[in-house]
Amino acid sequence: MGESAGPPVTVTFAGSGDAFGSGGRFQACIHVRSREHAPVLLDCGATSLAALKAAGLDPGEVCAVFVSHLHGDHFGGLPFLILDGQFTRRTSPLTVAGPPGTGARLRAVMEVLFPGSAGIARRFDVRVVELAPGTTQAVAGITVTSWEVDHPSGCPPLALRLETGGKAIAYTGDTAWTGDLPAVAAGADLLIAEAYSFDKPVPYHLRHADIAAHRGELTSRRIVLTHLSADMLAHADQVEFDVAHDGFAVTL
Ligand SMILES: [Zn+2]
Ligand SMILES: [Zn+2]
Repeated sequence: MGESAGPPVTVTFAGSGDAFGSGGRFQACIHVRSREHAPVLLDCGATSLAALKAAGLDPGEVCAVFVSHLHGDHFGGLPFLILDGQFTRRTSPLTVAGPPGTGARLRAVMEVLFPGSAGIARRFDVRVVELAPGTTQAVAGITVTSWEVDHPSGCPPLALRLETGGKAIAYTGDTAWTGDLPAVAAGADLLIAEAYSFDKPVPYHLRHADIAAHRGELTSRRIVLTHLSADMLAHADQVEFDVAHDGFAVTL
């Protein structure tokens, strides 16, 4: 994998779109490669297996998936990822870390999509870790901190911050603006911020206008916008930040 020569951390936006395929983009799926461990994902939307393969990233290498919230465009790809591992004879464990309730929702979605798949014996373990909002813990060799945000999805939605390879990656997930977001971003090497719409209010989502209005409070070294709706894509010429596209990679 060339870890010794490469950058400490590479973040690849395998999927940078919204739930609805706006702009032909894949749903949320952010791949984080560090020298310190096997790659991990931030979110795994329903289209993520195709997104990873389109970006030339091996799904079988992924050792952990950190899920911001339990909407299909953020965790609906997990049954496909797990079954892909089963059929490619994966042996290394997969950790799924998400909000309280992740274990039950993952079992439910597996049974709905592929009946009998939740309880089947596999060559690899699928370990679920539920992240209590407001806590920091080590998961799969990564330090993860979570904050509860404002985005109803059946279980507490989270903003997440990963520390790996000496770098900090902050991720808003989907949320209306909350007063915790400056803490999520504080001093991070990268803030990945949802920018669902340009300035049109959409309940429980961030707008480009929100990120711009609070820019002075967001002290990350870099900001990349993602989860873009058709409205946001239509305003591409007015955007004041870096914007992800599928396959866009950032080195930290
Ligand atoms: Zn959502
Ligand atoms: Zn979403």
